[in-house]
Amino acid sequence: MIQTLTTLCTAFGPSGAEGAVAQVIEQLAHPYVDEIARDTLGNLICHKKGPGPRLMFSAHMDSIGLVVTHIDEKGFLRVGAIGGVHADAVVNTPVRFQNGTCGVIAAQVGSTPGKRTVADLYLDIGVSSQEEAQQLVQIGDVAVYNTPVVSVQNMMSGPYMDNRISCLVLLKAMEKLQDCPNDVYFVFSTQEEVGLRGAKTAAWSIDPHYGVAVDVTSEDGQPGAKHTASSLAGKGAAVKVMDRSVICHPYMVNLLMDLAQEHHIAAQRDVIQAGGTDAGVIHQTRGGVCTGGISIPCRNVHTPCEMVSMQDVQACIDLVAALAQTTLQKEC
Ligand SMILES: [Zn+2]
Repeated sequence: MIQTLTTLCTAFGPSGAEGAVAQVIEQLAHPYVDEIARDTLGNLICHKKGPGPRLMFSAHMDSIGLVVTHIDEKGFLRVGAIGGVHADAVVNTPVRFQNGTCGVIAAQVGSTPGKRTVADLYLDIGVSSQEEAQQLVQIGDVAVYNTPVVSVQNMMSGPYMDNRISCLVLLKAMEKLQDCPNDVYFVFSTQEEVGLRGAKTAAWSIDPHYGVAVDVTSEDGQPGAKHTASSLAGKGAAVKVMDRSVICHPYMVNLLMDLAQEHHIAAQRDVIQAGGTDAGVIHQTRGGVCTGGISIPCRNVHTPCEMVSMQDVQACIDLVAALAQTTLQKEC
């Protein structure tokens, strides 16, 4: 599982350029589903057919990154953010472009820690002229964090646990499914980090009766936490009650908590006040979809060293599989 996680976390796939990570996921999913399709926005839609209502799981596969906006005469690259990049959290982070070009994020001399924005950052790709840089990158290319995936006692640390860890959850849940009472769609969505864009079109075309976003959630156990989030690493699957994009349907919240209890899966209720997930657009699709979320508590979200507990990951796998195999009615 750790090897698969490493493959997923290091696959290139910033928002809008998810082709490489989609290919990795497609190969892993292939033996376990009946049909796989990709839509115009790049969503990878894996379908496990069943007689019951349509149940859509969505884990976004895109990542945040830095897009090149300017190449100066010395070959330093100015960048903009793709998604929520916290400038102070990424200074001195190694990065990589899709063509393999590596570099390091640096902060402009004189910029003030704590007040920095992405405009105060630049990428040093180790060249000495604009011409040399232009041989390697062009305006619009995107760099991603190039930090390692490592096991740290009870947790895993690495880039893009948000949200490759949830891609792993869906892939492992798929493997557990026998015959399915529901018509299950596992969507690996695109462009979540820039506004839940992929899940919006995927949900419209699937037209699900039920939706579940699988994503990371902020963790409340770190020193000085102000309890703006509720979930703790190591305490199990976080069942979303609300975030800034959705107030989950009470039917789905209760169903997931009940299923966890019934199957002896560790679970906790999850409220966060910042951040959203694919649930934000799924629940507003067409006439409305009964939607919830299953999340993995994650420390250092949107930094190059996001940390999750593998115990929580297993709990999320078990809960996704339990829901997929529960006989649902068309009306919730
Ligand atoms: Zn996410």
